Amino acid sequence: MTRIFLVAVAFFLAAAPVPFASATEKRCSNPDAALGVSRIVEIDTKAGPLFGDFSKYEREPRFLGPKEVVLTFDDGPMPRYTKPILEALDKFCTKATFFYVGRMAMAYPSMVKKVMSRGHTVGTHTWSHPLNLRRRGLARAKDQIERGIAAVELAAGQPIAPFFRFPGLSDSGPLLAYLQSRGIATFTVDVVSNDSYISSPSRLAKHTIAEIERNDGGIVLFHDIKRSTAKALPTILAQLKKRGYKVVHLRTKSQVTPIAGFTSQLEKKRDRKQASRKGKPKLVPIYEAIAPATLAGDDDEPPLTELAPEPRQRVKSSAEAAATAPPQSSLSGDDATSVRRTRRSRRRRASKKKVSTASPEPVSTISSAVRGY
Ligand SMILES: [Zn+2]
Repeated sequence: MTRIFLVAVAFFLAAAPVPFASATEKRCSNPDAALGVSRIVEIDTKAGPLFGDFSKYEREPRFLGPKEVVLTFDDGPMPRYTKPILEALDKFCTKATFFYVGRMAMAYPSMVKKVMSRGHTVGTHTWSHPLNLRRRGLARAKDQIERGIAAVELAAGQPIAPFFRFPGLSDSGPLLAYLQSRGIATFTVDVVSNDSYISSPSRLAKHTIAEIERNDGGIVLFHDIKRSTAKALPTILAQLKKRGYKVVHLRTKSQVTPIAGFTSQLEKKRDRKQASRKGKPKLVPIYEAIAPATLAGDDDEPPLTELAPEPRQRVKSSAEAAATAPPQSSLSGDDATSVRRTRRSRRRRASKKKVSTASPEPVSTISSAVRGY
């Protein structure tokens, strides 16, 4: 019994890359130099699959062929780096997947919309990027996951992919079971660019290409909050083209549904923040839905491979039962007390540092906390 349903995969692996521009954007302006997209892998996430090498839990078989890569970017958006990264991806007419942090998305909603309008895929990476989610306690970890989904979807103004990556790749059986119960696919990585540690763009390009070569392709991890990544990406993409690598674009068969309580909390927070802007005109941001970047009817669309993994039992049933109970957006009892305590102590720490959560400060907090993932 095969766990993965591949449609004519051998044909697609052999197919030439297509300079790829979605229906919502202009055609590839540089088809000869384009890296393009060799095929689209559309994932049915109902069973909550787990992809990539960096996990001790049972994973789906690798869906990439030799010399195939998936480009992924975590922790953003951060306009100053996300913009040049989008420009580089456009220049090479290729596509990526972005795993966004909820509060970053809320800070830069127009950037999230821009990423999606260029035909890239957006998943999530928790609300505030806690590094050790597996040790946080189930209720708080689930809160992080769901608040992140609600925030990124709210910022996007349109449905997002049920794709998730753990900060620091800190997964656990109960949390994977929870994501399975929500029909969310989890991605680890195959190739770490190490852009959290390598500040020289030329060294980063060299290291990343060497790692991709060593691994014969794979799911590659970058961060769109890093200067070195923004600077090195054109070289990396040019090298991939030169060395015969092909980019595979991930797409979802269905969208994730945020928990309504989290969305309404975040809407109120966003509205309060806007109302409190003194001396500035009251901005009315465009939060209405933008048509999803559909590829239907696009003559240039690359071949499609469908993946529909079957459910897996990753944890014992007792742990799973506790894990799969959905979190409440308003916590009660012990959870509420502990979260309130944590929030009070966080507020005290924040006021000591005179740091506002509405300031760009989360950026440096997140970036310093990434530890390579
Ligand atoms: Zn991260």
